[in-house]
Amino acid sequence: MSHPHDLLVVGSVALDSVETVSAFREEVLGGSASFVSVAASFFCPVRLVAVVGDDFPPEHVAYLEERGIDIEGLQRQAGRTFRWRGRYSSDLNHRTTLDTQLNVFAGFRPELPPACRRTGLVFLANIDPTLQLEVLSQVERPLIVGMDTMNFWIEGSRAALERVLQRIDFLLLNEEEARLLSQDHNLSRAARAIQRLGPTNVVVKRGDAGALLFHGEQVFAAPAMPLSEVVDPTGAGDAFAGGFMGYLARTWTEGPLDGRLLRRAMICGSTMASFCCEDFSLDRFRTLQMDQIEERFSAFRHLTHFEDLTIT
Ligand code: AMP
Repeated sequence: MSHPHDLLVVGSVALDSVETVSAFREEVLGGSASFVSVAASFFCPVRLVAVVGDDFPPEHVAYLEERGIDIEGLQRQAGRTFRWRGRYSSDLNHRTTLDTQLNVFAGFRPELPPACRRTGLVFLANIDPTLQLEVLSQVERPLIVGMDTMNFWIEGSRAALERVLQRIDFLLLNEEEARLLSQDHNLSRAARAIQRLGPTNVVVKRGDAGALLFHGEQVFAAPAMPLSEVVDPTGAGDAFAGGFMGYLARTWTEGPLDGRLLRRAMICGSTMASFCCEDFSLDRFRTLQMDQIEERFSAFRHLTHFEDLTIT
C-alpha cells in the first residue's frame, strides 16, 4: 500500500451532556472534531486544530494522543470549553439541542503550526464557517477538502457558509440540513442544488436509513448497519465523516477520485458510524480493534449483495 496521506481536522472539541430515555451522561468528551479525528485515526495520521478551555480534563487530551492524533494545533485558552447538551426521543431518531455554549470558540483565531499547513487532505468539521475558512486559507495546497455543517450555521451564518462551499470537494450533511440549505424537500433535487453552490460531491446522511452519495451525476446508497442495540447516536455523523475521509486518505493515490473508491469510503463511513452508536461519547472507540472494523466492513457486503440482475 502507498504511504497514506495525512488528514487535517478542524472543528469543535466539546464537553457533551447527553440524555436518552434510559441513561444520561454529563460533560463527557464530544465535539465534531473529536469524533472525526478518532474515527479517522484508525486509517491515517490525523492532525487536530481546535481550542479547549482551561477546564478541559487532561485525560481527554491523553486519549487523543493515545490514538496517535497530532494535537500541536489544539490550543488551550483561559475560559470554559465548548459545551453542548442534547436529548433524544425514545426511538433515538430525533434529537433536541437543549443548549449550545461556544465559550472559548467565540474568540478562537486558528493559527496553524507548519506541519498542519502542508496537510493534503482537510476536513472542516462542524464549527463556525468563518473559522473553517480561516483554517482552509492557511493550508498551502489542499488536495481534497471535505466539510460538515448544521442548521445552527445554515440559519445563522449563511454568507460565510456559501464562501466555504465554493472551496470544497465534499459536503457531508444530514437530510434535514440538506433540505434547509437548498430550500427543497426532495433530497435528489436538494443535493443537485447544493452541488451548484460548489461541491462536486454531496453526502446526505440519513441516520438509521443510511447515507446517499451524489458524485457528479452518479448516486450511491450506503445502508446503515442494522444494530440490535443503539446506546447513543451522538457523533455518528462525525464518525461517518472520519471513516469516509480516513479511508480516502489511506487509499487515494492522486488523480481523479474513482467512483469505486468513493463507494468503499461510504461503507467505511457507515462502519465507523455504527460503532459510534454502540456506546456513549467516544467510548466504543476506546476498545475497538482493526479486525472488528474489517469484519463489519465485510458484513456490509453480505448486507447488500445480490446476484441476479433480472427478476425472472
Ligand atoms: P453529530 O451527532 O454527528 O451531529 O455530532 C454531535 C457533536 O457535535 C456533539 O459532540 C457536539 O459537541 C457537536 N456540536 C453540536 N452543536 C455544535 C455546533 N453548533 N458547532 C460545533 N459542534 C457542535
